[in-house]
Order: sequence, then structure tokens, then C-alpha cells
Amino acid sequence: MSEEIDPQDFGVSDFSITDGDECGEGHEGHEANPIHRDLWDAATALAEYRYPRGGGGAAALRTESGKILTSVSPQTHHDGTHLCMEVGAILEAHKIAEAVTHSICVARETESAPFGVLTPCGICQERLRWWGPEVEAAITHEGEDLRFLPLAELGPHWWWHRYGVNPSKERGGAE
Ligand SMILES: [Zn+2]
Repeated sequence: MSEEIDPQDFGVSDFSITDGDECGEGHEGHEANPIHRDLWDAATALAEYRYPRGGGGAAALRTESGKILTSVSPQTHHDGTHLCMEVGAILEAHKIAEAVTHSICVARETESAPFGVLTPCGICQERLRWWGPEVEAAITHEGEDLRFLPLAELGPHWWWHRYGVNPSKERGGAE
């Protein structure tokens, strides 16, 4: 399968780290928040490239400087070793020492099916919480539009509240 695609021809490096364009102004035609739309575009582009046949999905995270980090799940023989789609991009953010501000995961069941958003699982919400309760994650819902919610609203009863409000800032991890 991999022999059929030369990653160099496809510019696969474009999928690892890209500088998101700052298009807050002059984007009147956009229905969605341009940051949200850029993340959707990055995740679906990677999923389409990486899984041209059958189902598949990908994640895209935005960092504080506007970089977009993308990743896919590893293929494993043992289900117990599987990792979520966003883990690779989360690790990349730690590697470049930038706080994550937004996250999205998309998936489709076949190559001709529309993409849908997957809310981050509880474990990934915990991983994203390192960067604070204000990190926005795209959520699964019944409508067609792209919706993001801060982690604080996805998990209002987070266990750390027993000890403080924002542990990563107290540890110097999110600034
Ligand atoms: Zn997860």
C-alpha cells in the first residue's frame, strides 16, 4: 500500500507542522471561526491523504503560536496498545514546548463517507488539560456545523478541582 504513494510527491511534510495563517480579519465569507475551519481542513486533508481507501481519521491541534500539528493513530496488532489520533500531535506540542489551544479529531467510515467530528475521549481530555481548562476541543453533535467547547465545559467536575483551579499554570506548564 505504501509503495503506491511517494510521500515526497505529496508533500507529506506539510502535514506534520504548518504555520496556520492568521486570518482573523478579512474572512467575511467564512461561516465558522477561521481557526476552527483551518483545523478541520488540516485534519481532513491528512485523513484523505493517509487513508485514501476505506475508513480513517486524523487529528489536528493548534498551538499558541498558530502552528497546526497533525497526527493519526498507530496501527497495532494488540488492541491494548492502541493510541488515540491526537496523541502524536500532543507529543509534538510537548516536543516544541508550545501550549495547545485547540484540538479536533475527524473520522469517516469509508472513503466516500462524510467526515464527522469525534469529541476527545476522557483520556485525551486529561492529556489536553495540561494546557488548561480553556483549551477548545471540537465536539460530536447532531448538527452539521463545527462546534468547539472548552475543556472546562466538557468536564466541569474535573478531579483536580479538589486541589486547585489550574494545575498546569501552577506548575508553569501552560504559560
Ligand atoms: Zn483519546
